[in-house]
Amino acid sequence: SPSGGPAEILVSIPGKIERRYHGVLRVTPLPSELLLLIETDREVAVGSIVAAEVIEQTPIEALKAQAVVARSFLAASEPRHKGFQFCDTTHCQFLRHWPPPDSAPYRAAEQTKDLVLTFHGSPFAPLYSAACGGRTRALTEPDPGSRGYLYRSVDCAYCLRHPQDPKRGHSIGMCQQGAAGMAAHGASYREILDHYYPGTSVTTLPVR
Ligand SMILES: [Zn+2]
Ligand SMILES: [Zn+2]
Repeated sequence: SPSGGPAEILVSIPGKIERRYHGVLRVTPLPSELLLLIETDREVAVGSIVAAEVIEQTPIEALKAQAVVARSFLAASEPRHKGFQFCDTTHCQFLRHWPPPDSAPYRAAEQTKDLVLTFHGSPFAPLYSAACGGRTRALTEPDPGSRGYLYRSVDCAYCLRHPQDPKRGHSIGMCQQGAAGMAAHGASYREILDHYYPGTSVTTLPVR
């Protein structure tokens, strides 16, 4: 934008990639390539991650749980790259979709603004998986992003009712289809997070 503020950015390499971002673009020439850095507001990034993770028709309370998980990941993460924080591949998280303000992912971020999951007062990067198979797992050894939280094995009502659905992912932390099932039965995002991350708290940023 003329003011230098955040703008819609389209990065296009014909035939290879075409991605839209919302933020401020900075281009850094490296010896053999250009590094494109996009500074994005945290809430925009949260909405973008939820939009990338969303399955059609996911109820809003499940999206809000996903938004708190995404924000916790961003708040807890150490920089994963030299000179910038996140890339936009699965190495970090998907940051490919800028959700329009009337979309459910945008509202999920807005309605949980600044809320993160904490364990003993510190935000951690919560693990989650697509479908747990009926019961989630605890960690057997600490994960670098978990800040000492080892998770707990809990029943997942949706997956237990749908044993034909194959397990997808590591089954640690929130089960995405289980979260959608809880929301469809009237659970709030806080109840969903409390179920899949027992012993943690929902806290407003900045933490301490
Ligand atoms: Zn990365
Ligand atoms: Zn499940």
